[in-house]
Amino acid sequence: MGQNVYNPFESAQIQFDRVADKINLDSSVRELLREPSREYHFTIPVKMDDGTTKVFKGYRIQHNDARGPAKGGIRFHPHETADTVRALSMWMTWKCAVVDIPLGGGKGGVICDPRNLSQGEQERLCRGYIRQIARNIGPVTDVPAPDVMTNAQHMLWMMDEYEVITGGKYPGTITGKPVGMGGSLGRKEATGYGVIYTLREALKSLNIDIAKTSASIQGFGNVAEYAARLYTVMGGKIIAISCWDNNDKKAYTFRNKDGFDIEKMAAIKDSFGTIDKEKAIAMGAEVLDGGEWISQEVDILLPCALENQINASNFDQINSSVKVICEGANGPTAPDCDNLIMERDIFLVPDFLCNAGGVTCSYFEQVQNNMNYYWTKEEVLEKLDSKMTSAFQAVYQLAREKNLYMRDAAYVIAINRVAEAVKLRGWV
Ligand code: NAD
Repeated sequence: MGQNVYNPFESAQIQFDRVADKINLDSSVRELLREPSREYHFTIPVKMDDGTTKVFKGYRIQHNDARGPAKGGIRFHPHETADTVRALSMWMTWKCAVVDIPLGGGKGGVICDPRNLSQGEQERLCRGYIRQIARNIGPVTDVPAPDVMTNAQHMLWMMDEYEVITGGKYPGTITGKPVGMGGSLGRKEATGYGVIYTLREALKSLNIDIAKTSASIQGFGNVAEYAARLYTVMGGKIIAISCWDNNDKKAYTFRNKDGFDIEKMAAIKDSFGTIDKEKAIAMGAEVLDGGEWISQEVDILLPCALENQINASNFDQINSSVKVICEGANGPTAPDCDNLIMERDIFLVPDFLCNAGGVTCSYFEQVQNNMNYYWTKEEVLEKLDSKMTSAFQAVYQLAREKNLYMRDAAYVIAINRVAEAVKLRGWV
């Protein structure tokens, strides 16, 4: 994140309050749901390769578990903050509720930059994280998963440490594990594909043929790459991709007005979603400033990198050609842009609906872990498509019936489901 002014937790609360007002949510329910239920802040001492010990700061925050165990990723990021983790845990609650899976919302994070850590240091950091939080997570309490800059290997080290501590086999304690070690086929595709299942539905509702559209995408990590892959398979053209360059410490936008071959671009990126600039130029890409992904003449914007990337300072740069924004990232749009999106009549697929494919597949992973029986990739993706499509349709129908903005409609469904659960349990 980096900016001190933007506070994602305030954004999450502003979005929540706006809908809580609209639906006249009981004050006690509102008070409960505005804040996380539980927070764990801890230190993680890690032995570094040079013999020194470095102490990292870790978080696990459980926003709400009325509908099931808390669920949410663990981020490794140098600018991680407690408020980012709070916001993300809250969005997880709404995300699980809007796709109607029996899970609550949680999130974790460590302030670190894994790009500067050796494999051994990353492993010790993952194990150290679990040693600090093992008593407060688990398959029936809180189930972590990968997020920004964490991957299947990190999850496996974490699961192994949890099993060493508890002395049992609990693959369902963490999701996003490698396939063959309790992971689900389709997990790596799930979030990005989910983004495109919702885009496909949005375009259908607007009567636009996806094969005649073009898009600009921010990010080329897990979410963005698979979104770009499925979108191009459906006939769309990705003409711009923006990503962070860790050598130059700045972002670039790569542009190819004829549309990128995503397979080829994926072959020249590293495991952190950075495209090799020289190789991209050799393949004919133009290199523009990192922020220029937003001003391209395209039908669709796919912000799939980080939060607060579309805000009051750059909203005007959005080209008048843009008809749809699908929020693949969490919180990519600052709350003060919602009115501007409505004024411009841009169709928005809000983050916690748009990127719910990841958690939905994580839920499928847990189900398979519990059965100890694994589905084929086709079965997983078919179930995923069906869940995402019905969630989109429910939100879209409500938005039409009540003349609501898509973000508000998604919130109405999610908040009502969680509010009902806390009331039925007698918490309020
Ligand atoms: P990732 O670490 O794999 O990729 C992040 C990408 O963003 C990289 O390509 C990086 O270069 C790019 N990036 C970072 N800073 C940038 C900048 N300033 N300008 C342009 N590009 C920049 O992360 P991911 O897993 O793909 O997650 C991306 C977003 O989606 C995050 O908001 C995450 O919380 C959200 N999300 C991820 C999942 C999942 O399953 N991975 C699920 C739901 C939501």
